[in-house]
Amino acid sequence: MWGSRKSRASTVVTCTACGKTVLRNEAREYDKYGNRWDRDGKQFEHLCKKCDTDLCHQPRGGLETLLTECGAGEVSQDEFLARYTQTVRDRYDSLGER
Ligand SMILES: [Zn+2]
Repeated sequence: MWGSRKSRASTVVTCTACGKTVLRNEAREYDKYGNRWDRDGKQFEHLCKKCDTDLCHQPRGGLETLLTECGAGEVSQDEFLARYTQTVRDRYDSLGER
């Protein structure tokens, strides 16, 4: 019956991508480190089904590391964008040069 699962079913989470509030059991867990199976000491973010479907599930080689290195969430947006642009240039542009 509904009553027995009430506490779990009524938990709501906010979709990280679109900000919509959805029931926890209808949301998909999103691990920004890209490894949902290693659960130790982690707090997961959530995506609604639509955003999860839209999401690219290819590996994001080092993107989170790169964002962290550039000070995401710690420095101002202008500073972050400047660092990000510079870092990506330093790191990836040279790959295309012969
Ligand atoms: Zn969403």
